[in-house]
Amino acid sequence: MAVYFAMAFECPSCHEARSLAVVKRVEVKPPAPSVETSVQLVECKDCHFKALALYQESGADAAESEVVSHRGYSLDAAGFEVLSQIIKDCPDRLNRRCRCPSHVKLDEFASSGKWPGKSEKSPFTLRISSK
Ligand SMILES: [Zn+2]
Ligand SMILES: [Zn+2]
Repeated sequence: MAVYFAMAFECPSCHEARSLAVVKRVEVKPPAPSVETSVQLVECKDCHFKALALYQESGADAAESEVVSHRGYSLDAAGFEVLSQIIKDCPDRLNRRCRCPSHVKLDEFASSGKWPGKSEKSPFTLRISSK
């Protein structure tokens, strides 16, 4: 999974093949027992498009039944800043059981679906371009 997150994705704004990269990442409490959830901030190095990405994987079961969803929602600059700061303040980002104030906020956002600066328009799926 670490390798996957180190890759770059196709930008939904400028359509460059490998320009959208994960700049920050934090694991959060999953909505269901067997689902892994990772919250990410992604940014395009070409057009500076910014987005929130939510990655979900059913980790407990066999590899073949793995369901992976990786959805992106564009963020305005202010929302991106706020979320960057919240993620940065967490002392243990890859620990989804972390109970720091940042994680408490992130869990609230995740359960309500209301993220600072998140656009409801044109969510997209992050994909690795085959080009
Ligand atoms: Zn772009
Ligand atoms: Zn934390």
